[in-house]
Amino acid sequence: MKHRNQVFDNVLDLIGKTPLIKINKMTAKFKGNFYAKVEAFNPGHSSKDRIALYIIEQAEKKGILTPGSTIIETTSGNTGFSIAMVSIIKGYDCVLAVSSKSSPDKIDMLKTMGAKVYVCPAHVSADDPRSYYQVAKKLHEEMKGSVYINQYFNELNIEAHYKTSGPEIWKQTEGKITHLVACSGTGGTISGTAKYLKEKNPNIKIIGVDAYGSVIKKYHETREFDEEEIYPYRIEGLGKNLIPTATDFDVIDEFVKVTDEESAHTAREIAKTEGLLVGYTSGAAMQAIKQLSEEKRFKKDDYVVVVFPDHGSRYMSKVYSDKWMNEQGFFDTINAETTQAVQYIK
Ligand code: PMP
Repeated sequence: MKHRNQVFDNVLDLIGKTPLIKINKMTAKFKGNFYAKVEAFNPGHSSKDRIALYIIEQAEKKGILTPGSTIIETTSGNTGFSIAMVSIIKGYDCVLAVSSKSSPDKIDMLKTMGAKVYVCPAHVSADDPRSYYQVAKKLHEEMKGSVYINQYFNELNIEAHYKTSGPEIWKQTEGKITHLVACSGTGGTISGTAKYLKEKNPNIKIIGVDAYGSVIKKYHETREFDEEEIYPYRIEGLGKNLIPTATDFDVIDEFVKVTDEESAHTAREIAKTEGLLVGYTSGAAMQAIKQLSEEKRFKKDDYVVVVFPDHGSRYMSKVYSDKWMNEQGFFDTINAETTQAVQYIK
């Protein structure tokens, strides 16, 4: 790995070591100090670069992957992009089964990075043969010598964050971190980071962010998988309609639920107040911080780290589109930006 004078052997050397950036204006009225781990600074613009590189390199070490092998995955987009990027550099074929909930920009990006993409219906159960899980499984069975990353059920997903995100945050905060707030999709980010941080200081509070319509929060509290909790929601990459084994529920202290609407407005607020164009789940994570602050859960000297998982450019036709916000009915109750613009022109 050569990186003297910012010269690198290839793009993979830039994965990880992302900055921790202070959140200033948005949290000015809150008690505590707030810092965002901005994963958009990875070359693939998301935290998923970490797991793609780690899991692929572990498979190489075990001799599972050989030149020209095919790598298969199910993904809402980010993991697919990262796997495609790593595959290009390392010479593998990349086949992805993605949810129809993924934005068109994300799907086009995957294709641009040389991946073969299968788009599968979003609102079917995980065991339905049309679901992206089942499609990926079938492709893996049919393609000889292929590797299925299976991020929701792969313990290496947790290990990737245990080995990278955890130590980075500990070092960047000089051990002063008191709370970690992170969205849970596969659960790899929060579980691996939390495991490392709790080994360093068991008093650090680990707070997961979940969506209404997902089973994760209730499962954490009751260990019951309640199908009644499941209904469609709009945030991509957060929450789940199944229980991933890549989530270590024991290292997470609690979950906070956030709505599609408030998370969308908070994502837009991060861009407008902090100058950071980050993804929808970054808005969700900041929304959780707002709710916790309203409940007076943070003290003056607390050092809160929030993970911003990806870049906002991937959501230009969704959260950052006034048209999309209007179509969801999100401008009716809270924000009248579009109307204001029309009034100004008049
Ligand atoms: N945010 C986004 C945009 C994601 O794609 C994901 C991954 N599904 C997450 C958050 C959650 O990360 P993890 O899977 O590590 O829980």
